[in-house]
Amino acid sequence: MHPQQRRQYLEAIGIDVWVPRSPMAPASPPGSADPAAAAPAAAAPESAAETAQWEALRAEVRNCTRCPLHATRTQGVLGVGPQRSDWLVIGEAPGAEEDRRGEPFVGAAGQLLDAMLRAIGLDRRSNVYIANVLKSRPPNNRDPRPEEVEACLPYLVRQIELLRPRIMLAVGRIAAHNLLGTDVPLGRLRGRVHHFGARRTPLVVTYHPAYLLRTPSDKRKAWEDLKFARSVYQQLMRGSVPDGHRS
Ligand code: SF4
Repeated sequence: MHPQQRRQYLEAIGIDVWVPRSPMAPASPPGSADPAAAAPAAAAPESAAETAQWEALRAEVRNCTRCPLHATRTQGVLGVGPQRSDWLVIGEAPGAEEDRRGEPFVGAAGQLLDAMLRAIGLDRRSNVYIANVLKSRPPNNRDPRPEEVEACLPYLVRQIELLRPRIMLAVGRIAAHNLLGTDVPLGRLRGRVHHFGARRTPLVVTYHPAYLLRTPSDKRKAWEDLKFARSVYQQLMRGSVPDGHRS
């Protein structure tokens, strides 16, 4: 990515001036023209069996009545992005706009998330999959209840099995706590590599874009998190074990 373009994306995030203090990591992901980018090479095509599993999953979420949220939602929101992605971003649950449009992270928070992802070379239409812990909107955007998460999490686990991401980015307290099974404050979960599920997929934590809209002073910390996630991904693509902590 051209530095000027990255600078424009950072300005869109709300970080006015960004000057790298050290050279970017020298190795680039295979197939990427930009040594600083996080974008992967084109994913292998999906098999017919995988396509069928995705369709089955989509239909199950559409018709799901496993928890009471089905009664108040407009529609279940499975996720958006290529169905084989190295990157998986996970948020909390659909909000009002997401519930109406059937896509996660739309509206102002979604635009901020898109700008943050673009700043590290990722795009929801081509190389990152975006989903939520809960597939249905809780009324009045209240926090998900434990029994709702328990009912819904198997859908996310199946998504992850199909996507086989190399790295996960949990955005916000609810996603981080439910994915990691902890109630440690978000600030203490940032800046290190966690792991999720049977595949022990590396997972990095950052702030939710809706929080960043309310607290712009933390946008720079979120940018540090994204750079950390990108460096973890680049280390994985080089075949090395990623540093567990941000240096
Ligand atoms: S939140 Fe999940 S478990 Fe509950 S109704 Fe929606 S899809 Fe089903």
